[in-house]
Amino acid sequence: MAAKKVIIIGAGLGGLSTALRLASKGYQVEIIEKYHQAGGRLNEIKKDGFTFDMGPSFFSMSYEFKELFDACGVQNPLHFNELDPLYTVHFAHRDKPYVMYKNLARMAEEFKAIEPNMEAKVRRYLLSAKSIFHDTEYKIVKRNFDSILQYLLTLTTVPLKHAPKLVRSMWTELDKHFESEDVKVIFSLVAFFLGSTPFDTPAVYSLLNYTEIEHDGYWNVKGGMYRITEAMLTLLKEKNVTLHYNTEIVSYKMEGGKIKGFIDQKGQLWNADIYVCNSDAAGFRGEVLKRPEFREEKLDQLHWTLSPFTIYLGVDGKIPDLHHHNYFLGSNFKDYADTIFKTSVSPEKPYYYVNASSKSNPDCAPPNCENLFILCPVPDMRYKQDWSDAETLADTIIDDLGKRVGYDIKNNILSKTILHPGDWKDKFNLYKGSGLGLAHGMKQIGAFRPKNKDEEFSNLYYVGASTIPGTGLPIVVISSRLVTERIEQDHGNTF
Ligand SMILES: Cc1cc2nc3c(=O)[nH]c(=O)nc-3n(C[C@H](O)[C@H](O)[C@H](O)COP(=O)(O)OP(=O)(O)OC[C@H]3O[C@@H](n4cnc5c(N)ncnc54)[C@H](O)[C@@H]3O)c2cc1C
Repeated sequence: MAAKKVIIIGAGLGGLSTALRLASKGYQVEIIEKYHQAGGRLNEIKKDGFTFDMGPSFFSMSYEFKELFDACGVQNPLHFNELDPLYTVHFAHRDKPYVMYKNLARMAEEFKAIEPNMEAKVRRYLLSAKSIFHDTEYKIVKRNFDSILQYLLTLTTVPLKHAPKLVRSMWTELDKHFESEDVKVIFSLVAFFLGSTPFDTPAVYSLLNYTEIEHDGYWNVKGGMYRITEAMLTLLKEKNVTLHYNTEIVSYKMEGGKIKGFIDQKGQLWNADIYVCNSDAAGFRGEVLKRPEFREEKLDQLHWTLSPFTIYLGVDGKIPDLHHHNYFLGSNFKDYADTIFKTSVSPEKPYYYVNASSKSNPDCAPPNCENLFILCPVPDMRYKQDWSDAETLADTIIDDLGKRVGYDIKNNILSKTILHPGDWKDKFNLYKGSGLGLAHGMKQIGAFRPKNKDEEFSNLYYVGASTIPGTGLPIVVISSRLVTERIEQDHGNTF
């Protein structure tokens, strides 16, 4: 019996983990990747003696990676480090940062001057977030739906007590539990991990506060996040999976309701029995498959996550007042969130996140140096196409950061790389530079999200951040499990 051949378009985490699952089940797998190396957004920049994680810097639900390796019958080759404290938050109106400890008594101590009875309040808030997480985890998030009706019927079996949280915002929910503006802002930062603001993110996503503080916490990887991609590549090599880089799929051939082959930018035809697309599930249907319902005007009306503006700095000297994970915020959170993401103007006083992985991975920077990754969420390219002011925005952020940590960063830069939304779009085909793919409002999740099985072609499937269940590293690993289940159900692995 001959093994069925699968071509995966895209070597992001979604493509790599699907390849590992399918190869472990006996499929013959090949991967085609547009960029010059694997990983997609989970990538790495090496420059001037510094190593930078390009996108993700930590993750929740670490057990999803363990599940992946277990399911493929291999040892987990990665060493995960738990983050505790989780991160620090600097506000413009306060000299000292808040340190977010996982231990609730210690956390409450940080906020005792501004939020009385904080520990009890957090416990009450997390109790409700916990029940949403566990009431939906297997029933809704970690499963395939065959129709909208099946999805809606399943939703009716979720306890009714959660219904109000579908309609009210995360900010309104936080308002019910806490008095201090600073506390509400800090707890609402998880909304940005979904690529939106807490004012337009449904309150059900308070479950993310439960995942960060109580459930499994946050983790990163010893040696840097790109070790995940490298470990997957080693395992895939052992399973004879081949990868082709610098190859972009731009068109296709069909025959009798099936894909007959995909065509790359040089006109080469790539054939297989089954195809899995790890490119953005909505953008690919529009741009490559030319589906009218996913044409640009339709895609532009969808709710996309914010774009990343990222800076990678190699800095001479150690910066004592910087932790591994740090947020730098102003004092006008609501105004900022309401206006900044739908304008063609760069923010004058940007809010941003800084990761100094050299704090826990010294190999990522030369001795007595820091490697800083700075992420500032900005409007996607529907709103702002011209990024000729990228250097100016970067300088504004670097000046501000230097002042706030009391270190002359500007005059100690040994390496600098800037990626604006247009760069992110061009490198990985992210729709209009949207960093996390489609957003997660109620109309864009579950059976309403682009499906992982094509509507027209019986041998085409999708994996990754813009299909089910959604964005973020562990969620994309779940996506690879769901698409593998579909493929196994629809096609055996041999003829
Ligand atoms: C700046 C930033 C920070 C982030 N931080 C975090 C974090 O801290 N924690 C977390 O959990 N998540 C984070 N995320 C989100 C996380 O990176 C994504 O959810 C996840 O990596 C998406 O994986 P994917 O496989 O779906 O897509 P991708 O990583 O985008 O992979 C898709 C691959 O397909 C390739 N491709 C696309 N089109 C084609 C084509 N036509 N032909 C050939 N190849 C093609 C692309 O080049 C790419 O390599 C972050 C994202 C960004 C941008």
